[in-house]
Amino acid sequence: MNNTKTLFEKRKRLVPNGLGVFSPASAVTAKGAIVTDADGRQMIDFAGGIGVVNAGHCPDPVVTAIQEQASKLIHTCFNVAIYDAYLDLAEKLVDLFPHGKSGTKVMLNNSGAESVENAIKIARQATGRPAVLCYSGGFHGRTMMAMTLTSKVGYKSGCGPYVPEVYRLPYPYYGPELAQLFDEDTFVKQQIKELEHFFSAYVPADQIACVIVEVVQGEGGFNVLSKSYLQELREICTRHGILLVLDEVQTGFGRTGEWAGYQHYDVIPDLSTWAKSMGSGMPIGCVIGKAAIMDAAAPGTIGGTYPGNPICAAASLATINYMESIDINSLGRKVGDIIKKRFLHLQQLFPDIISDVRGLGAMMAIEMKREGNSLHTLVKEVIQRCNQKGLILISAGLHGNVIRVLCPLVISEHELVSGLDILEEALKESFTHMTSLEAV
Ligand SMILES: *Cc1c(COP(=O)(O)O)cnc(C)c1O
Repeated sequence: MNNTKTLFEKRKRLVPNGLGVFSPASAVTAKGAIVTDADGRQMIDFAGGIGVVNAGHCPDPVVTAIQEQASKLIHTCFNVAIYDAYLDLAEKLVDLFPHGKSGTKVMLNNSGAESVENAIKIARQATGRPAVLCYSGGFHGRTMMAMTLTSKVGYKSGCGPYVPEVYRLPYPYYGPELAQLFDEDTFVKQQIKELEHFFSAYVPADQIACVIVEVVQGEGGFNVLSKSYLQELREICTRHGILLVLDEVQTGFGRTGEWAGYQHYDVIPDLSTWAKSMGSGMPIGCVIGKAAIMDAAAPGTIGGTYPGNPICAAASLATINYMESIDINSLGRKVGDIIKKRFLHLQQLFPDIISDVRGLGAMMAIEMKREGNSLHTLVKEVIQRCNQKGLILISAGLHGNVIRVLCPLVISEHELVSGLDILEEALKESFTHMTSLEAV
């Protein structure tokens, strides 16, 4: 069997460079919050497959559901022959995420990006309008429309031309720099003014099908949308017949301490997109929406061969039921509290390097800022050091200068604290290393 080193050599030989390396880790088996790597090391997992295993690696009820479903029915294509697993999951999702009072419908997909693509197709058909509004720092996937909506240049450079009729606004995160300039109310009023200016100066509101936004940006570095901005946006959308699409792919299923990130905002979207933790790692996503809007898409314009295949749907339903039984949201809040406390402590230790501690629930991150330094390189070094010490970690942010935690929410307090200890040690070593380089 390969060890981690030979696995990476094999990868280099066979797999194109375009598939980025986010962490130097390998994996043979995994359970809960622990990954056993190809060198037999037990690694604490702070990446969770990029926020996919909120319910932990290989939860028993999910493994059983996959095995049982695989022995009964693997595939028919839902358009050809319908089956329980799809409809039982749809029923559960409608129950968890009602989109208003007049009925909610669900379509299943294979991924987050595919869910975003379909949400846009549905929004355009429902409104008969072409334009789509999105935000700086947003991430919505790597298929062509999703990539167009994605902000970070490093995720899309050279892949254009992109899809037309996509427009971008600054993301209204009221961070520490802005907080020095004005209060949040003033900030939100300015941002809303910008939006109204956009309708007069760029694209009239009656040409806009939808606005798509993450309530907490995932890849963008855990920037949290201002609550009053989203509430105002909801009203503006309703007034102009623009659909509000919330991308909950990373925020969903307990990560923020609620089933949906938007539940913190007292706002109901017209459409929402989901994936990542809804299937514990099986490829599944969905669009949930108001029934009348969902029904506006003409037969044949959405769907595919595999979406909602029996095994993925059964795994997802088992995941959600398991999450309910362990009260995933309270676990999310508990994990978030512990991480936040430690991050604030780290910020006190390194006030001139850690410029922001932010997030919602367990979606916590630290941002680094320093004049004249490649923070991207610094964060890479931290990730390397963590790996050597037994912690899997990934970065985020437009400049790769954010360290985020997406650990399984079922992580034990001991594992979580051990992981944070490793991170603290690695940060101290890297900062000392950086400062010594600067002194030279
Ligand atoms: C990961 C992610 C996507 C894309 O999901 P894939 O399953 O990787 O296609 C879309 N939106 C958000 C917010 C994400 O975090």
